[in-house]
Order: sequence, then structure tokens, then C-alpha cells
Amino acid sequence: MAVLDQLTSQQAIDLENKYGAHNYHPLPVVLSRGEGVYVWDVEGKKYFDFLSAYSAVNQGHCHPKIVGAMTKQAETLTLTSRAFYNDMLGMFEKKVTNVFGFDKFLPMNTGAEAVETALKVCRKWAYEVKGIPENAAQIIVCENNFHGRTTTIISFSNDPVARANFGPFTNGFLKIEYNNLQALEETLESSKNIAGFLVEPIQGEAGVYVPSENYLAKAKKLCEKHNVLFIADEVQTGVARTGKMLAVDHENVKPDILVLGKALSGGAYPVSGILANDAIMGVIRPGNHGSTYGGNPIAAAVGIAALEVVEEENLAENAETLGLLFREKLNEFISTSTIVNGVRGKGLLNAILVDDTEESTTAWDICMAMKENGLLAKPTHGNIIRFAPPLVMTKEELLECVTIIINTLKQFEK
Ligand SMILES: *Cc1c(COP(=O)(O)O)cnc(C)c1O
Repeated sequence: MAVLDQLTSQQAIDLENKYGAHNYHPLPVVLSRGEGVYVWDVEGKKYFDFLSAYSAVNQGHCHPKIVGAMTKQAETLTLTSRAFYNDMLGMFEKKVTNVFGFDKFLPMNTGAEAVETALKVCRKWAYEVKGIPENAAQIIVCENNFHGRTTTIISFSNDPVARANFGPFTNGFLKIEYNNLQALEETLESSKNIAGFLVEPIQGEAGVYVPSENYLAKAKKLCEKHNVLFIADEVQTGVARTGKMLAVDHENVKPDILVLGKALSGGAYPVSGILANDAIMGVIRPGNHGSTYGGNPIAAAVGIAALEVVEEENLAENAETLGLLFREKLNEFISTSTIVNGVRGKGLLNAILVDDTEESTTAWDICMAMKENGLLAKPTHGNIIRFAPPLVMTKEELLECVTIIINTLKQFEK
């Protein structure tokens, strides 16, 4: 049998189980096509995608403008490495710095690499600009963070599954409670060797945990007072997901280092990077850091198109409007529900809290039932279900989805 013959879902799952490492536990659905807010499985069943590849596909599946830019560039020049210039990267750097308002961009590929880049730049700035003694720099991070999967990043995770038996770990991180300004202040005052504060403006993987109003603005002020870099990991929250171009925009905060990934490419290609002004990015000189694929011509063409789509289609405004509607409709249902305790989120990054324990399978069972009813979502942390559709959704489509979600939840009422 030729590999390209159409497989059944079960055959595709069996292949992955037999030949692939088991580092994920996917919902048993095998997708073979996507367009806008929809995906189709290999048997032709159509679903609303309410995960959007963890908010990478904000611009919708296979957006024609992004795919067009990618295929055109793929036929022209794909990779030069940064040993030579290419005629696309500068234009992407100009676009991304203009959109987000920074002097400089440093391109990478995945979110984890961009976080690593931010940590390295922060440390180098600490030694060369702030004057912290060699190897003494500390970076403050938050409990229940998710910043990726590299050895350094899991060093400051507190997810036992992500950490167990991967040590020894990287030193130089201080962990404080998220959404706790007093803990931040005390930690900043505890040492002169603090270089940065790395934070997710909303903790996505932790279960769409939205901090108190003005937490980010006040945290930024505290960092300024102590000459500590405020590093915002907007890999999941950035690029219009929460109803503004960046989640920090809700509090008019300008990070010292901004980390982007995921929707920076609209899900077409791995594109990530960090943004900072010259006083910080200036510490990076030739040879200090790099990536063979980082800033390649396809990534640049895709990145420009992906940002243009966000602007041209007013995706931030749409996320804001539809997010309010989504939470309003869900709250109406929740007021009489025995199975859901709450809904929270910003823009189209939302989650519901299922009334059961983290160890229960209820949220998984609800996701399986929603799949049967034509909508794909995935539990995070056992009893929380994240809802993050592509931002190109219409109001009518969102209302249809709300009906599917509520009708499914009703099957689980106690
Ligand atoms: C997904 C994510 C990352 C890691 O991105 P990868 O592309 O999977 O390496 C980092 N930070 C946040 C907040 C994320 O959501």
C-alpha cells in the first residue's frame, strides 16, 4: 500500500502508536484538512477547531494569503542560513518591529527557542549593562508557568511530569507565586543580582489563569524601580488572541523583552523571536546566538503575511467582541449548571472549570462528546477545558459553537 493512500483514523493512530514516541496523549481524532475555523478528519467529518493549535492558528487554517506567500517563497528561495543576507528577512524585521513598537527583532523558530533567547539576552544585559557579578544573575519566574520544553526552561517549571528524570537543571531562577505583587516586591528587594522577571500575561497552559487587574502594570513598575527587565512571554497570548495585539496592551504595559511565536506565522510554519530596544538587544553581537533556520526567507514571507492578515481582518477587535459574547452566553448557562463552575478568559482565550477533580475523566469525556458533536477542544489540567477558536470566526459561527458546547455540557449535568 502506498503511504499516500487514504488511511482510516484507526490506521493513522496505529501508525503513530507503533512508530512514534509517545510524548503526547491526543484526542482520538485524525485530521487531514483545514480551512478557516474548520478542520476535517480522514473520514470527512467536519469540526470547529477550538484549540487552534494552542493559539498558533489565530488567522484560521490555511489562510490563502499566508499560504500564497509561503508557496511563492518556497519556489524562490527557502534557506540561506544567516551566513549570507537574504532579501526577505529585513522586510520581516521592519514589519514586526513596526507592529509591536520595538527597535530590534531577533528571529528564531519555536516558542521555546525564543524564550531561551530572551533568557540569554537578559543575562548578558545583566552582566554587561546592569553590572551583576559573573554567573550571579537571577531571573524571577512564576509558579505554574509554561514556557516550553528545553532543559533550561523545565528547570524552572513546577510540573512534575515535565521535569521528572531530566535533571540536572539550570541554576539562576527564583520562583514566586503568580499574581502576587508582594512576593515580587520582596524577591526584588532580596538581592541586587536580579536581572529579569519572566511572566505570561495570562497563564495559558496552567488553565487560562487571568491575573488581577493591573497586576502586569504594577509588576512592570516594580521591575523599573529595581532596574530589572520585564520579559513578557506572549507566545500564546500574543498576536490578537486576547482582544488586543498583545495581552499586555490591556494594561498599557511595554515589556523590555517581548517573546512571540505560535500565531506569528498563523500556524503555517515555525516562526518565533524576541523584540527589544537597542539598549538591550545591543548586547548581542556576531557569534553570540543564532539558529540555522531562524529568519529564513520562508519564515520571513510567512511572518509578514500573517501580521498583515491580523491587521487587515481586524482580528484583535473580532476576538474582543466574540470573547465578550462567548463568556456572556456561557455565564448564562453556568448560572443554572451543576457541571460547570465558571468561565474565564480574555478575548478568544477562554476556559471553563468543570465541577470535578483534576484526576477525574469528566473534562476528557466532555471533550470526547463535543468531538462527536462537531467541535474540538482539549482539557488542560484535568478539569479545565480551554476554548480558543481561530480569530477569523463570525458571530453566527460562534453562536453555533456555543450551542454545541452547551448542549454537550447538558448531557453531563448531575
Ligand atoms: C507554546 C508556548 C511556548 C513554547 O512554544 P513551542 O513552539 O511549543 O516551543 C512558550 N511559552 C508559552 C506561553 C507557550 O504557550
